[in-house]
Amino acid sequence: MEKGGIRHVVAVGSGKGGVGKSTATALLATELRRRGLTVGILDADITGPSIPKLLGLTGPLVDRGEGIEPSASRTGISVVSSQFMVEDEQTPVIWRGPLVTRLITQFFGSVHWGKLDYLLIDMPPGTSDVPLTVFQTIPIDGMVFVLTPQDLAALIVKKAMNMARELHVPLLGLVENMSFLNCPHCGERIELFGTGKVAKIAAEYGIPVLGQIPVAPPISGLSDQGRLDEHQGPEVGALADAFVRSVDEATKGQTTVL
Ligand code: ADP
Repeated sequence: MEKGGIRHVVAVGSGKGGVGKSTATALLATELRRRGLTVGILDADITGPSIPKLLGLTGPLVDRGEGIEPSASRTGISVVSSQFMVEDEQTPVIWRGPLVTRLITQFFGSVHWGKLDYLLIDMPPGTSDVPLTVFQTIPIDGMVFVLTPQDLAALIVKKAMNMARELHVPLLGLVENMSFLNCPHCGERIELFGTGKVAKIAAEYGIPVLGQIPVAPPISGLSDQGRLDEHQGPEVGALADAFVRSVDEATKGQTTVL
């Protein structure tokens, strides 16, 4: 498939679920958008689609003749998700693998994304059918991995990283979520789950740690209200800077005709 008017396609994955992959994807999109860039999110996490909830979006998806129209957040992030195809938040998509993979392929090829600087793909956790399809059919520039500093998250993310590497997808870097907590009373930085693991994995794979996101009540609060794109913080700014650098580095020498 062709990238069309999309400058960069980047997958965001994790090993385990619940580490904040969707949160990191939405925060990254938010910060890139804040800089005036055009950003879309393809929510490929079919069994646990979270992006619509985080950004306060609902369906349905419509086709006005140029392809399926993405839904747009208040701040202008374009989103396509399987969540827009079901009646309510509790209804699951119970589809067999081939149907799911066809849907993801359509989310890329049959959606009228228009011109985008970045399309982020919120991948399902793990190493199933869907990541395989994404790697084999969508022209992605690279992949970013989200993990927490806990042993289990660190262990399982390596499976996803090894899968990407085996399929020749450039590993762009790691995002450490829930790295620390700033005490609201004394400001002390508390490292809830320890330190050092993420840096060690980054060194092992020869890739950068792109950023560290703290456990922050405003992040979960805004997520619950569907307004995560209002969040602003120095850590997310630094993450976006490192992300842009890493994508530029990985795609150096490539020309995209927009
Ligand atoms: P995943 O996509 O990896 O399954 P989510 O992004 O859905 O994980 O996050 C899981 C839960 O943890 C959500 O309720 C989210 O609001 C919360 N969460 C994630 N990251 C943070 C953070 N840095 N601070 C506070 N809450 C967070």
